[in-house]
Amino acid sequence: MIMALENDAPKIEWIREKAKASDYHISEHIVRYFMVKKVTIREIEDAIANGRIIETHRHPARGVSALVLGYAGEKPIHVMCADDQHGWLLILFTYVPGSKMWKDPVNRIEHGGKRMGEKLNKCFFCGGMIEQVQVGNFDYRLEGQLYVVKDIPAGLCVQCGEKYITAKASKKINSLIEDERFVGTEDVFVLKYE
Ligand SMILES: [Zn+2]
Repeated sequence: MIMALENDAPKIEWIREKAKASDYHISEHIVRYFMVKKVTIREIEDAIANGRIIETHRHPARGVSALVLGYAGEKPIHVMCADDQHGWLLILFTYVPGSKMWKDPVNRIEHGGKRMGEKLNKCFFCGGMIEQVQVGNFDYRLEGQLYVVKDIPAGLCVQCGEKYITAKASKKINSLIEDERFVGTEDVFVLKYE
């Protein structure tokens, strides 16, 4: 049985080897991050190649993952890595550590829980702080159709850019679409993987 290994965090040597051999999967979260041009897959690979593990995270549902800090040139990059237990490295999310969350690329700023409130205040993916903002363009898919919703109130992770919307806001978006209250159309660039 390999059960005993399941709670072990992946080792940096294993992560490097898997990244070098392209034996990895990335989450959709990272694809979205590519789209905003925050980081490239090449930079993620470079960061892992010279990276080290700075934190180990244990999550009841997601198991153990390792937060790797590495550099793409001068740019510090954090990459959250997990072992899927079937031979693949899973790259869960990535971000450039920012000054709102990190004193430096290795040390977090202690917030002492003072932001705790009734609103969502911590990013599910990266643990970053959530700020309430108005998102200018929010992509929303319903039954295969893409809609762009303007000026939606959302929680924005200041670290990785993940957006969270309330149940109330999501219901409102749905009803705006159902009522076809469109204010215009926009062209979108379509990419095909071939
Ligand atoms: Zn985040």
